[in-house]
Amino acid sequence: MKHLDYICKVPSAFDVNTGDRSVYLTFDDGPHPLFTPKILDVLAEHRVPAAFFVIGSCAAAQRDLIRRIVAEGHEVANHTMTHPDPSRCKPDEVQYEILAANRTIKLVCPQASVRYMRAPFGIWTEDLLTASARAGLTPVHWSADPRDWSRPGANAIVDAVLGSIRPGVIVLLHDGCPPDELNPGTRAGLRDQTVRALSRLIPALHDRGFEIRSLPQRY
Ligand SMILES: [Zn+2]
Repeated sequence: MKHLDYICKVPSAFDVNTGDRSVYLTFDDGPHPLFTPKILDVLAEHRVPAAFFVIGSCAAAQRDLIRRIVAEGHEVANHTMTHPDPSRCKPDEVQYEILAANRTIKLVCPQASVRYMRAPFGIWTEDLLTASARAGLTPVHWSADPRDWSRPGANAIVDAVLGSIRPGVIVLLHDGCPPDELNPGTRAGLRDQTVRALSRLIPALHDRGFEIRSLPQRY
């Protein structure tokens, strides 16, 4: 598939110096009115930073949450306006998705500095990388994916992250759900397991000597 040609151009972990045990927590597909506040509460309790790759349409609907994320020292990053499959988008649609999400975040929270972007579904295309570069965004993938969205249980989420953790790893979690994947009457969009997993994962990472950091300022 075409997008596989481009994933190698996107960092999935950050280089760290010998002895540096930095790791990074990232949350995609929010903000969500119920679960994002709970995740922010857990992060605040443990005083650790995270990056939130938000969907622009969700950001527009949850303005106070974008402001809270920024006010509490976390990073807001671009996860497109409507979370389409980039491989099915025309170049001008990709450009719109990136720029509209940036505009929305800045409109909702002018103090936000949007520096990073992540492809919906992790599908990186040439058009997406070109549009990101034009918008001054650095693309970032992940290197620990516990597939929390599939609701494998909080313990399984913790174990999967701990099983692939090493210095520089970027952990992918989800605080929300793309609006078109919400299935009323099912539990698919619920992130309660992610919240529970996070409250165990942070102390477990600290016990193992890892430091949870903000995404690098320059990369
Ligand atoms: Zn996503």
